[in-house]
Amino acid sequence: MAELSPVLKQATPVVAARGEGAHIYDEDGRRYLDFTAGIGVTSTGHCHPRVVAAAQEQVATLVHGQYTTLLHRPLLKLTERLGGVLPAGIDRLFYVNSGSEAVEAALRLARQATGRQNAVVFQGSFHGRTMGAASLTTSGTKIRAGIGPLVPGVVVAPFPYAYRLGMSEADAVAYALREFDELLITVTSPQDIAAVFIEPVLGEGGYVPAPDAFLQGLRERADAHGFLLVVDEVQTGFGRTGTFWGHEPSGIVPDIVITAKGLASGFPLSAIAAPEAVMAKAWPGSQGGTYGGNAVSCAAALATLDVIEEEGLVDNAARMGERLRQGLEKVAAASPLIGDVRGRGLMLASEFTTDGRPDGAAALRAQQAAVRNGLLLLTCGPAGNVVRMIPPLIVDGEQVDAALAVWEASVAEASA
Ligand code: PMP
Repeated sequence: MAELSPVLKQATPVVAARGEGAHIYDEDGRRYLDFTAGIGVTSTGHCHPRVVAAAQEQVATLVHGQYTTLLHRPLLKLTERLGGVLPAGIDRLFYVNSGSEAVEAALRLARQATGRQNAVVFQGSFHGRTMGAASLTTSGTKIRAGIGPLVPGVVVAPFPYAYRLGMSEADAVAYALREFDELLITVTSPQDIAAVFIEPVLGEGGYVPAPDAFLQGLRERADAHGFLLVVDEVQTGFGRTGTFWGHEPSGIVPDIVITAKGLASGFPLSAIAAPEAVMAKAWPGSQGGTYGGNAVSCAAALATLDVIEEEGLVDNAARMGERLRQGLEKVAAASPLIGDVRGRGLMLASEFTTDGRPDGAAALRAQQAAVRNGLLLLTCGPAGNVVRMIPPLIVDGEQVDAALAVWEASVAEASA
């Protein structure tokens, strides 16, 4: 009998039978509050009726057009629609299927557009598991172990992770920018840098927001040296952080935006967006793929954008995020195990430490207790010592409070 490969690591033992809104039901009919949302994907909730209807209609009309063979209306409409939510001037797009693929595509695009080779990433960042994306990923060596040699030309700079550094946010930013400048003198000449890749909130690396001043500092350096600033909005985009884009509060305009996850409510779709001036330097035909811009995924993305707008999900993420944060802070204040609560919007986390050191075992105990108690959660962070909450953006106050009650009990269980 065949079984799933042990290369996969299961975070919960749940076998899902169906999903509805913020809930998952297992095969025995047990209901779970889902604060994982498919790793930040099902922002409109499981099986939102609008998304389901759009996908069903599209399935019966045209499933696969293959967008470099022929175009189709959902793809054209989505492109137009994304133009309305992307930063001004970032108005040339193409599509692939996953975050990793989009990151790979952005790396190739940046290299072609600049004629330069190097990429700078920040320690703790996660950009994906395929070879190029894994080469940009330093959230944990398990992603890179045993698969090298990796793609060359990747330089790793420190991230202003204030809590871990034991610094104020302002000091952490000053430190990280100083180290960045040092790298330009000692490791890679700026004229060899094609792009800097950054997540507006470090995701798998521990849910650490990039301070506005840090993004602004990187923008200044990109302008001064002619390299591209690529924001990986795969996890932070589409309202997750309480603004439409994670980088928005900083006021910077990036050169390339990478999106996936929340874009299509669970249908595989990712998009790479950049100004005409950048895209025009790429080689025609150098990007694409069989399934990119799948018609059903595009129809689901259009419905997702409708739902985000009409149901005010960006505002809801900000309001519910605040409610959740306050509750998490209360739980943390009463627990010696939780040293920091942070994040933005509905991308929030609690960091577990013992004697100031990361405590992955305690985080795992709390996460597993929560799952047993009916609340699906995931860990993140290099030591797995951060428990994150990424509910769907449709979550309501009652569900947030219910999750907090389970969390409080689960942290107590983890401490016993
Ligand atoms: N970038 C970021 C910021 C991510 O969070 C992820 C997935 N967690 C990826 C890229 C990779 O996306 P995928 O798993 O769809 O390849």
